[in-house]
Amino acid sequence: MLDTDFFRRWMTAVAASVEREANHLTELDSAIGDADHGSNLQRGFAAVTEVLEKDAPATPGAVLALAGRQLISTVGGASGPLYGTLLRRTGKALGDEGEVTREQLAQAFAAGVAAVGQLGGAQAGDKTMLDALLPAAEALATSFDGAANAARAGAVATVPLQARKGRASYLGERSIGHQDPGATSAALLVEALAATAA
Ligand code: ADP
Ligand code: MG
Ligand code: MG
Repeated sequence: MLDTDFFRRWMTAVAASVEREANHLTELDSAIGDADHGSNLQRGFAAVTEVLEKDAPATPGAVLALAGRQLISTVGGASGPLYGTLLRRTGKALGDEGEVTREQLAQAFAAGVAAVGQLGGAQAGDKTMLDALLPAAEALATSFDGAANAARAGAVATVPLQARKGRASYLGERSIGHQDPGATSAALLVEALAATAA
């Protein structure tokens, strides 16, 4: 079973991973965006870690909902509302259970990913974070490691795609040949989940 502390550790692991990979994320965003994805998420997840320590939410759902609200209020870029919605909606779908199974998380996460699609209007293949999140949500029904692998593969598979949503879409064909920053950070999020579960 996954308890409240598991979800807090997951968010802390994401913050650490984003911190380590911030330069890489910003480099990816400098190729097809505005070179702020690393710093956006660094600021956002540092604030998430801080508020989780201060407020100590009592359930898994409350941890994710608070983390999501914090991302929305601290990240100005597109990724703030999108990741914020992912975590808030996933948290809401977990309800007020004190512990949840991986299967329950997989279902809730799929609802969170669907909400990201609704908010941003993107679909699979548009070269966004959804290209990592959608396959990860599906694979999470089976295993944590499978979800991490699917997210990583989904991020790498954005390289040959042309961006159809977000800032990178302004580049048209010139967005081809670069890995999407948001799909790359989405893989970090799911890898941190698998590492927390290991
Ligand atoms: P901004 O583009 O506002 O500077 P970030 O650089 O933090 O924001 O995030 C960019 C990432 O956000 C992209 O790489 C992409 O994965 C994701 N993104 C942008 N627009 C959308 C959208 N409409 N739907 C899903 N993801 C999106
Ligand atoms: Mg950017
Ligand atoms: Mg920006």
